[in-house]
Amino acid sequence: MSGLEQAPTSALPTGGQGAAGTPWPSGARRRTDGELEVAGVSVSGLAAEHGTPAYVLDEADFRARARAYRTAFEAAFAEVGAGVDVYYAGKALLTVAVARWATQEGLRVDTASGGELAVALRAGVPGTSIGLHGNNKSDAEVLAALDAGVGRLIVDSLVEIERVADLAASRGVTAPVMVRVTTGVHAGGHEYISTAHEDQKFGLAVAPGPDGGTSPALAALEAVVARPELELLGIHSHIGSQILDASGFEAAARVVLQLRADLAARTGVLVGEVDLGGGYGIAYLPGEVPLDPARIAKDVAGTVAEVSDELGTPLPRFSIEPGRAIVGPAGLTLYTVGTVKPVTVSESDADDGGTTFTRLYVSVDGGMSDNIRPALYGADYHAEIVGRESDAGPVLARVVGKHCESGDIVVHQVMLPGDVRAGDLLAVAATGAYGRSMASNYNALTRPPVLAVADGAARVLVRRETVEDLLALDQG
Ligand SMILES: *Cc1c(COP(=O)(O)O)cnc(C)c1O
Repeated sequence: MSGLEQAPTSALPTGGQGAAGTPWPSGARRRTDGELEVAGVSVSGLAAEHGTPAYVLDEADFRARARAYRTAFEAAFAEVGAGVDVYYAGKALLTVAVARWATQEGLRVDTASGGELAVALRAGVPGTSIGLHGNNKSDAEVLAALDAGVGRLIVDSLVEIERVADLAASRGVTAPVMVRVTTGVHAGGHEYISTAHEDQKFGLAVAPGPDGGTSPALAALEAVVARPELELLGIHSHIGSQILDASGFEAAARVVLQLRADLAARTGVLVGEVDLGGGYGIAYLPGEVPLDPARIAKDVAGTVAEVSDELGTPLPRFSIEPGRAIVGPAGLTLYTVGTVKPVTVSESDADDGGTTFTRLYVSVDGGMSDNIRPALYGADYHAEIVGRESDAGPVLARVVGKHCESGDIVVHQVMLPGDVRAGDLLAVAATGAYGRSMASNYNALTRPPVLAVADGAARVLVRRETVEDLLALDQG
């Protein structure tokens, strides 16, 4: 039970905002009667009006995080004489309002499909401020991007380079492209792994091929230079997600800047831009320390300045693509508790021959259809009963969904008040990223609404899906 017995059942700040060490939005506050307010809005009121499950987004928190990343990177890179653009990675959560918030805070928007591109355009994001990613873009997606005048297409293979060039020619335009490369640096969590070749579908390897010949990345960059319908903006690298220190970004930046110098030596073309991707980590559990944007920006800016000094090349313009770090902590999910069931668990243990304990299974009215991350990656979350006070002692609980899968887990382990019961409102922290955007209709559940709260008021950004919506797709 890994020390959880000592943990308090509540990590919610009881006053003030933005307390460190909590995974809740900065506008979250627990009142003395146990009620949770976010940006001055009571979550019980939200549940009563909009039902559960529901995603709740703290707009001011989203905006503050977007600003914090932009200003931290602008300041740190200005210090070493380089410009920087921050792209919000829309795949974490993209709605029309969210795209507008990002733009209003001075960010650009990254998209990874024609659908995400359409949402960004509907929000009024200027084409020039949009990037389009994808390892398998369709012709229709490439054409939609060209027609919207996107600022950059990130190309991912040699065949795609030729295809984008042909499509640009068919439209009589020049396509601005970056080439996505794999640096061999793969990061996630506390450490990075470095290998010559990454066994994954994205990007082109910087390392030479098996024959020791030209690196696929260099060959791709030269292929772009060779096509007049393409404008080579620069080189793109994304090393992973939920990264909690600078070492991986620094190692990748070295590889990319060296590649840029190698390309210049071979072709005379010194590309003007380098993108270092996203992956900035957040706190999911009480006590976890998220990546500090000011710290990481300083570390990475320091490294790139040092490397370009060594290489004797002027610094390019940089860009980064945080998604989770902007929207993850700004969101939470509200559920209503249903069935509560104690289950006796036996665990064998080499030291003392084993233990038997009770785990309380707390079922909620959503699950893997609104948050797939625990089932997909074993991701951990924190949950609390909100909307009432409890004097009951904490018990070890597992929050599960209502789907027909035993792996349908919302929170693997958390201490909840021992009197948790049907009808309670349960909030799960830090679900703003990759919750709604990865939601499904498994078991024909309807996807929850996205509610924004700000200055004591709530509004619906995305309405709840209805069974009618599902039936409307079914042609009988
Ligand atoms: C997923 C992804 C991001 C965003 O990752 P986060 O972990 O949400 O910051 C940025 N860039 C690319 C290319 C990605 O695939």
